[in-house]
Amino acid sequence: EAKKYKNSVRLFSPSMQEKYLGRIRIEQALRKSLDKQEFFMVYQPQLDANGCIYGVEALVRWEHPEFGLVSPAEFIPIAEMAGIMPRLGHFILATTLREMKQLQQELGVCFQVSVNISVRQFMEKDFLEKLTREIELYRFNKIALCLEITESLFIEDIDYILPLLYKMREIGLSISMDDFGTGYSSLNMLRTLPIDELKIDKSFVDTLLDDTAAQKMIQNIITIGKNLELHVLAEGVETNAQEKLLKSFGCDRFQGYLYAKPLAYETLKDFLKSQPLN
Ligand code: C2E
Ligand code: CA
Ligand code: CA
Ligand code: CA
Repeated sequence: EAKKYKNSVRLFSPSMQEKYLGRIRIEQALRKSLDKQEFFMVYQPQLDANGCIYGVEALVRWEHPEFGLVSPAEFIPIAEMAGIMPRLGHFILATTLREMKQLQQELGVCFQVSVNISVRQFMEKDFLEKLTREIELYRFNKIALCLEITESLFIEDIDYILPLLYKMREIGLSISMDDFGTGYSSLNMLRTLPIDELKIDKSFVDTLLDDTAAQKMIQNIITIGKNLELHVLAEGVETNAQEKLLKSFGCDRFQGYLYAKPLAYETLKDFLKSQPLN
């Protein structure tokens, strides 16, 4: 009974209440924000082993007049719970495709663009139909679109997910397994998945230089990736020392502040003009 008491005390502590109120306020603001153009996309360059930019990751930003810049790590889960994700997800895809089309026209280059797809978004009944329609809308001659999914997707019905992934592959999409190593995926299942890339979670890269456990983890991920003939991308690379070690392990793709922060469209364009492109 002491346990129960403890729980009830925790439940009414001010910090919990503040969090709760915060969530409600964010949820209310989110509902209004989609119409007010408070969302925009930023794009973080991705480099190959030669240091050439071959792609970008699209990341959403929310600038609220009162809250300021709210982290997507905070508002995406709230948007999902509140059922706003279908609309927000549509905004994310449509904006990304439109801006990538514009980039192709303005710079004459075709990049791969990786878009984060949350579990709920992926599981929406008509997700692939909507995505296909969206891609057709922009009449790309060529679009290299990669979907970043996470291991948590595979808690859902695998008999639904697997055929869908194969269909995505068939229409030319690539699939990247984001935050790899933080969740649970069996190696056996990984073998059956039609994916193109493993993305090493930033938390491993963060501690890479002084944590041998993180080093072993990364080496294992790279070995798995090589055996399955997948690209392995390290995210959150901030120093030359990290890059050097990752390269020595055989990592073949890189993303992080060392190269560029996530950039809004115009800044991205200027940045790309000054870079060796793939
Ligand atoms: P994620 O997909 O794992 O994205 C990586 C995060 O690391 C991004 O944070 C990125 O800005 C940050 N990052 C990249 N390189 C560095 C670095 O060198 N140093 C540091 N300190 N940070 C780095 P961000 O943009 O705040 O996104 C956080 C998470 O929110 C994402 O994690 C993703 O799960 C989610 N998210 C962001 N945009 C979207 C979106 O458009 N759709 C969905 N469904 N989720 C999104
Ligand atoms: Ca990601
Ligand atoms: Ca990640
Ligand atoms: Ca992450």
